[in-house]
Amino acid sequence: MALLQISEPGESPAPHQRKLAVGIDLGTTNSLVATVRSSVPEVLLDESGRALLPSAVRYFSDRQPIVGHDALGAQAEDPSNTIVSVKRFMGRTTEEARASGSAYDFVDAPGVGTPGTETSGAGASGTVRLRTAHGDLTPVEVSSHILARLRSRAEAALGDELVGAVITVPAYFDDAQRQATRDAARLAGLNVLRLLNEPTAAAIAYGLENAAEGVYAVYDLGGGTFDVSILRLTKGVFEVVATGGDTALGGDDFDALIAQRVTEAVAGSAGWSRHDRRALLVAARAARERLSDADETLVSFQLQDGTAVDVPLTRGQFETMAAPLIERTLDCARRALRDANLQPADVRGVVMVGGATRTPVVRRAVGELFGQPPLTDLDPDQVVALGAALQANLLAGNRMAGEDWLLLDVIPLSLGLETMGGLVERIIPRNSTIPVARAQEFTTFKDGQGAMSIHVVQGERELVSACRSLARFELRGIPPMVAGAARIRVTFQVDADGLLGVTAREQTTGVEASVTVKPSYGLSDDDITRMLADSIDQADADARARMLREQQVEARQLVESVRAALAVDGDLLDDGERAHVDEALARADSVRDGDDLEQVRAAVSALSEATDAFAARRMDRSIRKALSGRKLDELS
Ligand code: ADP
Ligand code: MG
Repeated sequence: MALLQISEPGESPAPHQRKLAVGIDLGTTNSLVATVRSSVPEVLLDESGRALLPSAVRYFSDRQPIVGHDALGAQAEDPSNTIVSVKRFMGRTTEEARASGSAYDFVDAPGVGTPGTETSGAGASGTVRLRTAHGDLTPVEVSSHILARLRSRAEAALGDELVGAVITVPAYFDDAQRQATRDAARLAGLNVLRLLNEPTAAAIAYGLENAAEGVYAVYDLGGGTFDVSILRLTKGVFEVVATGGDTALGGDDFDALIAQRVTEAVAGSAGWSRHDRRALLVAARAARERLSDADETLVSFQLQDGTAVDVPLTRGQFETMAAPLIERTLDCARRALRDANLQPADVRGVVMVGGATRTPVVRRAVGELFGQPPLTDLDPDQVVALGAALQANLLAGNRMAGEDWLLLDVIPLSLGLETMGGLVERIIPRNSTIPVARAQEFTTFKDGQGAMSIHVVQGERELVSACRSLARFELRGIPPMVAGAARIRVTFQVDADGLLGVTAREQTTGVEASVTVKPSYGLSDDDITRMLADSIDQADADARARMLREQQVEARQLVESVRAALAVDGDLLDDGERAHVDEALARADSVRDGDDLEQVRAAVSALSEATDAFAARRMDRSIRKALSGRKLDELS
C-alpha cells in the first residue's frame, strides 16, 4: 500500500544505456503493458496491433494455455477451463472465493497444480485453487500466465530483456492481494520494481502530460471494480488526499442487470445451462458497449441447443437500469471529497479511467457532480498503464533532467483504540498520509490500577463490536496511583510500507509496552468495502447509539447524585418541592436504561431543572458550613 518515493534530479542517460522497464496494468478484465520511449509513454501492441489483452486464460490437458482474445472467445464453449476476472480471487481464501458466487470449481486442498510454482502466499493453506484441465491452479498462477504474455509482448517490441516492471494494483488491495500480485510477477519472470496504486498511476500519466497543478479526481470504473481518488498535484508532488470505491461494482454488474432483464423476458430461461448463461453475459456486455454509440441494440446469442435469442434494448432502458449503480459511484466520490474536506467545485479536473467510463450516462453523471465535463483526452483504457510506465522508467534510472516527482499515499481505514463502554477512540483517521504518527494520552479509571489493556481496532464505526480487532496487549507495572493520576501516552505509528506499530508508555515512570501489527493483514477488500459501506449506512445509527450511551451514563450519574443529595440535605425542600423532585427522580430512574434517546434526554433535563433550586440551596449551605466557626482573619 505504501508509496513514498523521493527522487533526486538527474541527467538523462545516453540512449544505449537506457534500461528497459515497463508498466503493467494487470486488470480484472483487460491488461496492458506500456513503456517510455524518447520521454513519451506508449502502450505496446500485440502482433495484430491490439493494445488490450483480455485477462482471460483457457487451459487444456495436453497443451500450453492460451491467453487473451482467443481464450475470451472460448468462454461459453469451455467455461470451466476458461478463467476470467481472476483478479477477484487474488489473495483470497477458498471460502471467500466461494462466497463471491462465482461459478468456477474451487478446491481447497493443495492440488496437483504446476510443479515447482509454489511461492509464499501463492500456496499458503486456505488459498483458493481453481480446478482446470491443466490441474488445480492458484489465482497467482493464472495471473502469472497473463503477465508472462505481456512480458513476451514487451520483449518482442523492445528487442531486449526487461530490467523490471511496475505493476498496478487497486488502491484498496490489502497486503495479501498485493503479495499475491508480486508473486504472480515473480512467477512470470518479472522483476517488480514497485506496485503502484492504479489511480495514482492515472494521475501521473495525466499530470505529467498536462503539467497539471491543483486538486484532481480520478474516477475509475472498470469491469469489476470502482475506485475514486482525490489527489493534489503541486510542482511534481502527487499527493493522494483521499481514496474510496467499491470492489464489487463495475461493468460486470451492469451486464448482470441486462442478463436479468433478458431471463425475465424469455420463456424457458429457467432451464438454461451454464453455457447459455455465460453466452448471455457475453452478449449483454457486447450490447452494453454498443449502446455507448447506438440508441438501441439487440442482446443476441445462441443457446446450446441452437435456438437464437434476440431481446431488444434501448439506451434509455439501459440508463434507467444503470442509474442506481451509477449513483453508488457518485456516493463514493462525494464521500472521498468530504474526507478531503473539499467541495466538488474545488476539483480542477476529473480524469476518467476504465473502459466503462465510455458509457455516456456515466460521463454525464460525473460531469453533473463536479460541474464540469470529465477529462477524456487520455484513453481511459490506457491511462493506468502509461502512468505505470512513467514510474517504471524513473525507477529503472532513466530519469530525464527535470523529471523528479514525489508520491505520497494514505491508509484506507481508520485506526483506533477501544475505550470505556465499547466505544472507539480514533487515533489515526482514514486517508491520513503515510508515514504518520499520532499520540494520545489516556489514564487509569481505578485507584491503584496496575495494568491497562490496549485493544487496537480498525474501521469506521463508533462501536468496537463493529470494527475489526487488530491486536491486544497489556501495559503492566503501572505504579499504584489514584484513578486518573497515571498518564499513559499511546502512540500509533504507520510506516511507509503501511505497517502499524503501537506503543504505550506511562509518562511518570517510563514503563512501556508495544506491539507491531499489519493493519491490513487478512482484511479482504470485500471487508474494507463492507466496512466502509456499513459506516455510511450506519453513521446515523452509530451517532445515535453513542448519544444514547452517553445520555444513559449521564442519567445514571444524575439519579445517583440526586439520591445522595436528598439523603443529606432533603430538609432544604418543602413538601411540594420534594414531591416535584421525587417525581422527576422516579421518572429518570425508570427510563434511564431504556432505548429511547429522546425519553432519556427529556427525563435528564426535567430532573436537572427540578433540582436547580435545591442545588443552589445546597451550595449555600455548604459554604456556610465551611465558613462557620472560623475567624474573619482566617478567611482573608
Ligand atoms: P479492468 O480495469 O477491470 O480490467 P477495463 O478498464 O478494461 O477494466 O474496463 C472493462 C469494462 O469496460 C468492461 O466492463 C467493458 O464492458 C467496459 N467497456 C469497454 N468498452 C466500453 C464501451 N465502449 N462502452 C461501455 N463500456 C465499455
Ligand atoms: Mg483497470
